[in-house]
Amino acid sequence: MGILNKIVMSTAPWMPKFVVGRIAAVYVAGDKLDDGINLVRKLNKKGFVGTLDLLGEEVRNRRGITKTTKAYCELIEGIANSGVDCNISLKLTALGLKVDESLCWDNLSVILDNARTYNTFVRMDMEDSEVTEATIRMCKKSVKYYPNCGTVLQAYMHRSNSDIDLLKTPNSNIRLCKGAYKEDKDIAFQDYDEIRNNYLECAKKMIENNIYSCFATHDLWLIENLEKMLEESNYSKSNCEFQALSGVPIDKTLERLISKGYAVRYYIPYGPDWYPYSLRRIRENPDIWKDTMKAFFFRSKHRK
Ligand SMILES: Cc1cc2nc3c(=O)[nH]c(=O)nc-3n(C[C@H](O)[C@H](O)[C@H](O)COP(=O)(O)OP(=O)(O)OC[C@H]3O[C@@H](n4cnc5c(N)ncnc54)[C@H](O)[C@@H]3O)c2cc1C
Repeated sequence: MGILNKIVMSTAPWMPKFVVGRIAAVYVAGDKLDDGINLVRKLNKKGFVGTLDLLGEEVRNRRGITKTTKAYCELIEGIANSGVDCNISLKLTALGLKVDESLCWDNLSVILDNARTYNTFVRMDMEDSEVTEATIRMCKKSVKYYPNCGTVLQAYMHRSNSDIDLLKTPNSNIRLCKGAYKEDKDIAFQDYDEIRNNYLECAKKMIENNIYSCFATHDLWLIENLEKMLEESNYSKSNCEFQALSGVPIDKTLERLISKGYAVRYYIPYGPDWYPYSLRRIRENPDIWKDTMKAFFFRSKHRK
């Protein structure tokens, strides 16, 4: 770890809250559900669709899990009542995945029931490797119960290419990202080019299997290669989309994708837990401070 990373990691907990808040505001829509919905409405007007994520990870107590479940049900209702074009992303550890899988399922199924009522797509984010297997298991169970849902594969994981086979169904919908956690070299590629290559290998396999493919990346080289791959295989634009984190300043690339007819979905975090969430992300992966500074100084105009 570089010296600057060590400094960032050790000073983060002592950074004044308003400083962390100013930085987090680059990505986070705000504390409240309405803040998230309002940002989606703004982005919809510019041609983007959204996925709202209630910030928070790894809840271990039952009260917290029930509170998260309720908040997600309110989110689904909020999306339906406001009429915005948006789905939801959630983290299974916030529903108790690390405590007890059956407790997680009990809460997830409440959310899926609500999603069924309002016909909302539910994305289960992929977290660290401790829960990869359980997340895939939970996703497969969910799809049988409510087909309008899916999970995420991380291109840095050696296993992801074969996980496509596990998740493949006639309606499968997979988000492919590089992966955000620090993982061991025994299970995950560490080299930048190896991750890019595996991303393209996985994308190719998803396309060959006619999977609804969501390409979540800000890597312009990768986006250009994915466009080339999609065009060469004449892949239907209604069977794929690109995704980006709201606040990352790659406006022109995303506008080009929209002008070509691709759907572009912004991932929009919101919620009162932005402070512990931001600190945890810095602690888990101190490298992100560089990207954060970039987004802070070169603001995306799409949020205005
Ligand atoms: C919609 C979406 C959903 C995601 N879901 C998951 C998930 O479920 N599980 C998971 O492990 N990871 C998830 N991620 C995170 C992902 O795994 C990567 O960690 C992250 O996207 C950075 O990788 P990249 O593909 O953008 O490539 P990089 O090589 O990291 O970045 C490419 C370029 O984009 C810039 N950039 C990247 N991120 C930012 C940023 N935050 N701010 C400013 N500039 C930035 C970089 O500086 C670089 O120039 C998701 C990402 C997106 C966009």
